[in-house]
Amino acid sequence: MTEPLRLRITEIFHSLQGESDTIGYPTVFVRLTGCPLRCGYCDTAYAFQGGEWMSLDDIHARVRQYRTRFVTVTGGEPLAQKNCLPLLQQLCDDGCHVSLETSGALDVSGVDPRVIKVVDLKTPGSGEVDRNLYANIDRLLPHDQVKFVICDRADFDWSVEMLNRYDLASRCEVLFSPSFGQQDAAELADWILQDQLPVRMQVQLHKYLWGNEPGH
Ligand code: SF4
Repeated sequence: MTEPLRLRITEIFHSLQGESDTIGYPTVFVRLTGCPLRCGYCDTAYAFQGGEWMSLDDIHARVRQYRTRFVTVTGGEPLAQKNCLPLLQQLCDDGCHVSLETSGALDVSGVDPRVIKVVDLKTPGSGEVDRNLYANIDRLLPHDQVKFVICDRADFDWSVEMLNRYDLASRCEVLFSPSFGQQDAAELADWILQDQLPVRMQVQLHKYLWGNEPGH
């Protein structure tokens, strides 16, 4: 008998999507345990270790308890567990609107094309800029999103350079987000307008509603 596919899960919860192009929609979040990065601003360090093994069927059953078709698979770094890929596929097969939040450090080529990939490009201020896998840029689909979490003016300038170098805005939506508690949001908005950038600015809605509380 073959063993059921399993994943190590930190939490599954229902909240409002705080970022990306479905911001504000009630969404089920599946947070996978583990991450090979250590960004300075990380707000989910509690997902680095621990968690509970769950079969894909059990995860699926939990997701279906909620009356929303929006599902976000996040972490940690969800792609660090290989069974993330069949989970994404199963959720899509079930008719869910599935997004994947990933650090941009791991290969996204195996991700089901129905999934909306929200791919970070780690800025210098994150402390993990050397982990960016730039080959992922050619794997972006028009419905995907590239996200920059900006810690300061140097991060902003670097992000503009990446925007231009890879012509990111012609590939998919580009999100600029201030690092919470580090970069003033209004200042970032002014910089975007001054430079007339083709990007979408976002603040993390869930943090304004609930702060850094896990499970939101
Ligand atoms: S990639 Fe995400 S989960 Fe991993 S350390 Fe960075 S912010 Fe935290």
